[in-house]
Amino acid sequence: MDYQDFCTIPITELGERLLTEENLLREIIAHPQSEPAQAVLKAADRLRALTVGEEVHLRGLIEFSNYCRGNCNYCGLRRDNRQAFRYRLTQEEILAAATLGARLGYRTVVLQSGEDPAFTGEGLAEIIKEIKKLGLVVTLSVGERPRRDYELWREAGAERYLIRHETADPLLYARLHPGRSLKERLDCVQILKDLDYQVGMGFMVGLPGQTPATLVEDLRLIRRVNAEMVGIGPYIPHPETPLAGCPGGTMEQTVLMVALARLVLPHALIPATTALGSINPKGREAALQAGANVVMPNLTPTQYRTAYEIYPNKICTGEEAGECRRCITGRIVALGRRVSDGPGHNSEWLKRRGRGEVVGSSGAI
Ligand code: SAH
Ligand code: SF4
Repeated sequence: MDYQDFCTIPITELGERLLTEENLLREIIAHPQSEPAQAVLKAADRLRALTVGEEVHLRGLIEFSNYCRGNCNYCGLRRDNRQAFRYRLTQEEILAAATLGARLGYRTVVLQSGEDPAFTGEGLAEIIKEIKKLGLVVTLSVGERPRRDYELWREAGAERYLIRHETADPLLYARLHPGRSLKERLDCVQILKDLDYQVGMGFMVGLPGQTPATLVEDLRLIRRVNAEMVGIGPYIPHPETPLAGCPGGTMEQTVLMVALARLVLPHALIPATTALGSINPKGREAALQAGANVVMPNLTPTQYRTAYEIYPNKICTGEEAGECRRCITGRIVALGRRVSDGPGHNSEWLKRRGRGEVVGSSGAI
């Protein structure tokens, strides 16, 4: 297939076709400004309109602890960063944030943290049960945990789990995550799938050592796993990490990968990430116009926001939760889109549940 053929393929088939054309796909990824790359952005926007429509789903993000036993070489919350001011919200503070979220009209809250063992399986299950009483959908993003914890949380009512695979290259993964492996990460993904969570995978763009070939593997992996959600953000260097001083990912590269993710997973929930908004004031808008259909405004109590410094210069650390809600709604409406008032589940996950199927048990990743 060359670029001319590419223009004649129906957009619903474009993702699959590109995955069979490794060289063309790598070329496109290597040249985000090129004509074919621009065509990918447009195709992804059209496909998004066709499959998931004009609605943008909002998820209120509660960053409830920045203690972390992990030591990822790119992240400001890594265990060895002694400069970080550590905090953890009480159960009451978490519930107050969720209550505020419900009042502001969010239908989902995302509970995100470092890997903090102080929140036990049972302890977090209690919190989830209380949040469910508010009528909210609960998404978790708390890293790698034993199967039993994932079970307890699913039983407590959590429906979604974000666990980015970070990079599909096992060697690069091992270099970035001391003492950990891509296999262990994917084992967690498999367990979460088996437990019938909607699973969010994803990766950073511009990681040191990443190549267009790696990014093709990232697309293959999210496609193979059939991720219900895909979070893609630029890598942003943090000064208190071993990778300080490395260049970060660009908006153009990241938005292109968002568009390609839409093409390979037409029904996925794809956020316009805060990291993208942090490297460019129009980053989230660009993603929303290239396949994204989710935004995650911040609900963390304002006094803790700057301390949740995964990467530097994060946006929305000064605003009150209500301001974030208004700001993001304005931006979505300005694009001619609308804020969803529904729960915003992945439609294929809903269909499978309607048929009584659990997908994850069908086979290993
Ligand atoms: N501890 C959990 C959730 C919090 S980290 C976990 O690791 O899964 C959430 C995401 O932040 C990570 O998956 C990673 O992709 C992203 N992240 C971490 N450091 C970053 C950096 N320096 N630049 C951009 N994104 C980063
Ligand atoms: Fe901890 Fe997650 Fe950061 Fe890794 S990416 S150091 S697990 S918060």
